[in-house]
Amino acid sequence: MDRVLGRIDPTVDRTAAARLLGCSPDQVGYCPRCQGLTRRYGRQAQVICPACQAVQPPSAVGAPS
Ligand SMILES: [Zn+2]
Repeated sequence: MDRVLGRIDPTVDRTAAARLLGCSPDQVGYCPRCQGLTRRYGRQAQVICPACQAVQPPSAVGAPS
């Protein structure tokens, strides 16, 4: 299933979020854009959460509009 992961509310249990993200709990951290939970640390870290990346990829940040 390739369903895009939505924003994970920061009140969600870190262990449950890690399971959703497919990483370990100590890799979970806050997205700087929406404060939702994302795979913030470690290998293959996604500082910007999947929900925010779907709206605007990180490569687009800082680009003149
Ligand atoms: Zn986000």
